[in-house]
Amino acid sequence: MKYSKILSLIAIAVVAFACTTNPFTGKKTLALVPNSQILPMAFQQYDQFLSENKVVKGTSQSQMIQNVGQKIATASERYLTANGYAGYLQDYRWEYNLVEDPAVNAWCMPGGKIVFYTGIMPIAQDEAGVAAIMGHEVAHALANHGQQRMSAAQLQQIGAVAGNVALSKNPETQQIFNSAYGIGTQVGVMLPFSRSNETEADRIGLTLMAIAGYDPIVGAELWQRMKANAGGGAPPEFLSTHPSSDTRIANIRQWAPEAKAEARKFGVTTFRK
Ligand SMILES: [Zn+2]
Repeated sequence: MKYSKILSLIAIAVVAFACTTNPFTGKKTLALVPNSQILPMAFQQYDQFLSENKVVKGTSQSQMIQNVGQKIATASERYLTANGYAGYLQDYRWEYNLVEDPAVNAWCMPGGKIVFYTGIMPIAQDEAGVAAIMGHEVAHALANHGQQRMSAAQLQQIGAVAGNVALSKNPETQQIFNSAYGIGTQVGVMLPFSRSNETEADRIGLTLMAIAGYDPIVGAELWQRMKANAGGGAPPEFLSTHPSSDTRIANIRQWAPEAKAEARKFGVTTFRK
């Protein structure tokens, strides 16, 4: 067999065995870079980000981020445990911080490391709006969307650096992490997710916010406000990574009742707006 053919077979084998199951959709996704490797990198980058930015503490807004964050984290734990994924979040180290920055942005790094920028707070508007944004961002993390993006980059490297299949010890892994999470250019600025990842995060996010006791219909209202805010001038960071559309808003309206139905299984009967 030709050397190149052997290499491509090895690459296929690596891909076949390096998959993980998305606990929300049941779909197999690519996980060439394991979370055991991604999370420590995320934790380090998060700490660095906090050290280089002004973290808001002791205000009603920063308290709100903490409160909603804890509720979304608890909702995530409850959902995953109930669906046979107890321990899925055991390596998570949840943290919720508000950072003084006019950018309209928010994100969640792998491992539950969340940042809200003060610039997004007027659009979030209230606690339920914060929950809608946070549910969505946490959903990206729980569904390993960043990991999939890293795996795609890693896969390209198997082609580029054929033969180097010691992926877990690949010196380029840090670099791939950095590019997958937009680190190096502007720390913590996520690259855009694919449309299917966005749709998935919307749906999971609604379930999480509903289990946390918030009305998922607020998700649709939030995106309306995002859309209105985007009119004129440069689009805010959040919209450059999370394109808004009428389809998205219509989907959220359609999915809100099923998110509530899911939450009722957890004994949640009232949903605050
Ligand atoms: Zn998103």
